[in-house]
Amino acid sequence: MLDVRPIPAFRDNYIWMIHGIGAPHGVAVVDPGDAQPVLAALAAGALKLEAILATHYHADHVGGIAELVAVTGARVFGPARERMPVACVRLAGGERVGIAALGLEFGIFDVPGHTAGHVALTGHGVLFSGDTLFSAGCGRLFEGTAEQMLASLDALAGLPDETRVFCGHEYTEANLRFALTVDPGNSAIMDYVKRAAVLRGEGRPTLPSTIGLEKRVNPFLRTRHENVKSSAERRAGRMLPTPAAVFAELRSWKDTFR
Ligand code: ZN
Ligand code: FE
Repeated sequence: MLDVRPIPAFRDNYIWMIHGIGAPHGVAVVDPGDAQPVLAALAAGALKLEAILATHYHADHVGGIAELVAVTGARVFGPARERMPVACVRLAGGERVGIAALGLEFGIFDVPGHTAGHVALTGHGVLFSGDTLFSAGCGRLFEGTAEQMLASLDALAGLPDETRVFCGHEYTEANLRFALTVDPGNSAIMDYVKRAAVLRGEGRPTLPSTIGLEKRVNPFLRTRHENVKSSAERRAGRMLPTPAAVFAELRSWKDTFR
């Protein structure tokens, strides 16, 4: 099983550190918004940073890249269609990217919606979903349409159920409160609420999730389920004839949900 560990950053970001296969002292990091906690983890483990992967250009995901490159010389891989702080290998949907020094290879998904050029990486039984798929939620629509984001999420939901999902933020508990409002009586959500409270109470991440779990609890992957659809229609005060219309209503509801 691929060795992936969290480096908490800022208030609720995770920078994911991937250990190389057959090269345990070589690592890659995903979405390093801040260099300092990464440099501390490298020093603590006597680790060599070989690669930096970025899912999208927001500062809380790329803000540490320039300093990490200056200190470590790591290679940077970033989305093909977004401006990045340093020169990098460009990742586009449908391509595969190899990091030979770490024995790693990932396939790339284009997942527009949160940003126009957002990418996700998958391989070795894991998914790095950035701010597209969160556990029990999804990213805000800053640069895309509901149709685009729904298609992006549907593509990720097509991965095998056992795929471990590593996303960019610890938003799970707040997302679950919304999920239970939209999908009341869903016992998988109720079970997850309890499990997440225990984990957070111990100061541990709720992540990774899995694709199988997300399909059972995440309202943004459940726009075709009657319970979720009827909740969205009740809030909208009208029929919502398509999954994209349900999705759009859920997303705007969540934007103001407390
Ligand atoms: Zn973002
Ligand atoms: Fe973010």
